[in-house]
Amino acid sequence: MFDARTVRRDFPILQKPINGKPLIYLDSAATSLKPRPVLDAINDYYTRYTANINRGIYKISEEATERYEQARKKVAAFIHAKDAREIVFTRNATESLNLVYYSWAKEQLSHGDEVVGTIMEHHSNFVPWQQLSKERGVAFRIWNVDKRGLLDSHDLDKYITRKTKLLTFTAVSNVLGTINPIKNIVKKVKRVHPSCIILIDAAQMVPHMPMNVQDWGADVVVFSGHKMLGPTGIGVLWAKLDILGNMPPYQYGGDMIKEVHVHETVFNDVPHKFEAGTPDIAGAIGLGAAVDYLSRLGMEQVRNHEKEMTKYAFNALSSIKGLSIIGPKDEKKRGGVIAFTMKGIHPHDIAQVLDEDNVCIRVGFHCAQPLHEFFNIGPTARASFYIYTTKEDIDSLTSSLTKVKKMFA
Ligand code: PMP
Repeated sequence: MFDARTVRRDFPILQKPINGKPLIYLDSAATSLKPRPVLDAINDYYTRYTANINRGIYKISEEATERYEQARKKVAAFIHAKDAREIVFTRNATESLNLVYYSWAKEQLSHGDEVVGTIMEHHSNFVPWQQLSKERGVAFRIWNVDKRGLLDSHDLDKYITRKTKLLTFTAVSNVLGTINPIKNIVKKVKRVHPSCIILIDAAQMVPHMPMNVQDWGADVVVFSGHKMLGPTGIGVLWAKLDILGNMPPYQYGGDMIKEVHVHETVFNDVPHKFEAGTPDIAGAIGLGAAVDYLSRLGMEQVRNHEKEMTKYAFNALSSIKGLSIIGPKDEKKRGGVIAFTMKGIHPHDIAQVLDEDNVCIRVGFHCAQPLHEFFNIGPTARASFYIYTTKEDIDSLTSSLTKVKKMFA
């Protein structure tokens, strides 16, 4: 039975008060806290078998290689990839997106082609396509949301044409919380346009709910390790093998080659041809431990807990006059991310007052400025939840926000 209070015991950072007060961490959409088994796995690599991978013919190097490749298999199983070779380790979702931009889009797309993205994208899945349109004359069309913050798939015909070579969208918005209907969108597009590549930014989905890349029918999926209990510095690109096979390497160097001669180089196989140089070995091993941890909890349970917290927070926050939440109101249609404004109070003032109570939230545009401009609003405050969030955390948020209201009223 899932119990956030039991889960919390695994997080060393939650055990130590800061300035005598407990830490109320409500910024997991930015990065998650790390549980003991993940910290132990990283420590174990550094204290017991530090060695480079793929090279040494000695025990600790063989163990490091094996555990690095095991992590790849764990990630593959976690997202239901068909084959572990479909998993490329990168630094983060941003680097995965840049890999697609450099090795696929810049190679394949030219003047006259079209890319469709959405207004709710994180900058890391917006700027590359905007720049591509400036550099190459590839049209970048933007699929807008409705007032509730939902994409309307009936609108797709307006955006997708025979010239659309890439459709990209986030699985879950890091501002609106909106969960997009991936399978429906993919099915609709592929029915009329099977060769259109569909790229999903799953940075806010993989940590929070069960997912199955094969079931989606999309072509490329990206996410980061640090939002799903793993360390910073490790990210994932999943893509179908034929797509990866046709993409040239993104960076050159050691490990991504099979043979190097004075005038010729033979590149390594997928996925190694995209992992040039010494990778973040400890990062991958830590991510493997994070996947084990989440799998033990069960992703259905993780999702149910977040739905419960989101519903509770909606009720609690609605008691504060002048506070408005953006995005869909139904917790079944959204992840555990709530962005809001308070009438007449700047979000930075909100965050500063909350910090006095150790309540950590994020304020600003959350790397989604076009979305804020679309809604014609300034920066917002954002609280986000995860497996260790409790109703008491949300009560602390509510009482600190009430304090903010009194101070600035
Ligand atoms: N996409 C989404 C939806 C995100 O929320 C984030 C992180 N805020 C990213 C991409 C980028 O992730 P990273 O900074 O780990 O590369």
